[in-house]
Amino acid sequence: MDDDGLYARLRAYEGLPAVVAGVGRDPVNAPMIRHWCEAMGDRNPAYTGPDAIAPPTMLQAWTMGGLGGLDGVSPHAGRAQAYDELLALLDEAGCTSVVATDCEQEYLRPLRPGDEVGFDTVIESVSGRKTTKLGTGYFVTTRTDVRVGAELVGTHRFRILKYAPAHNRSPEPEPEPEPEPKPKPEPRELRPRPVVNRDNAGFWEGVRDHRLLLQRCTPCGVLRFPWLPGCNACGSPDWDAVEASGEGTVFSYVVMHHPQFPAFEGPFAVVLVELAEGVRMVSDVIGVPYDKVRIGMPVRVRFESYDEELTLPVFEPSETPEGVGA
Ligand code: ZN
Repeated sequence: MDDDGLYARLRAYEGLPAVVAGVGRDPVNAPMIRHWCEAMGDRNPAYTGPDAIAPPTMLQAWTMGGLGGLDGVSPHAGRAQAYDELLALLDEAGCTSVVATDCEQEYLRPLRPGDEVGFDTVIESVSGRKTTKLGTGYFVTTRTDVRVGAELVGTHRFRILKYAPAHNRSPEPEPEPEPEPKPKPEPRELRPRPVVNRDNAGFWEGVRDHRLLLQRCTPCGVLRFPWLPGCNACGSPDWDAVEASGEGTVFSYVVMHHPQFPAFEGPFAVVLVELAEGVRMVSDVIGVPYDKVRIGMPVRVRFESYDEELTLPVFEPSETPEGVGA
């Protein structure tokens, strides 16, 4: 089957069900909320006490079947045939591997202990054929609508890449050696793009203007990074943005040796910078050899352009580190 023929068959699954009449294994309940908050280290008072709500990010947890799956939870519930067919079609086309790429959630109202969730999942979209570092394949996005009774309380989008692993391609026959052609320079691999979404778009707008912006909760004044829809201290969704000075210190770091990524020349240090304002940020450190990076090293932000479309805030030493020639 040619690519166009396959793609037409794949797209025919858009809008068809993946899970029908799903029912949450357990009602929303305090013990699961407590375990989640302990695992996340989230002490937000909104999640305890008589008026507790569930952390919004637990949305998917209430729809998961656990080790036993969802069989037997509801006589009508189940994974729809269409989804299995779609995956089988991709398997047949050689896209036998799968990786989850991202998820996106929308919350319409908080869930509270006692709420019993139901859900339906549809195959929302199948992308055209894409080549990634892992191999060539198709992104499949499913959308789960979570309801309590008839009320839609949240939506969970989940995207996977079904792909043919790059290293499994059948080897091409060795070509006859030809007179040595002039070696072409290898095209430089581009760095991965940041995922920009509604929650963090303001940060990336700041980066475009070479400003390092932090979110500040309007009611309680607590600064936060990375950008999030709500305040972990008081729960408020109201915020404004303040520009950081760009000064900080290395709070911690790791040196990446493996795996090697084409866009990065290893080994290199990945740093967790504590900004002067008190929040921490994972970033690159440049202008210093990876083995000279130290905890406590003073650094300052610098906006580095990697290609026409990509500028990133990175950090450089604000003093000449010991042992590095001036
Ligand atoms: Zn707050």
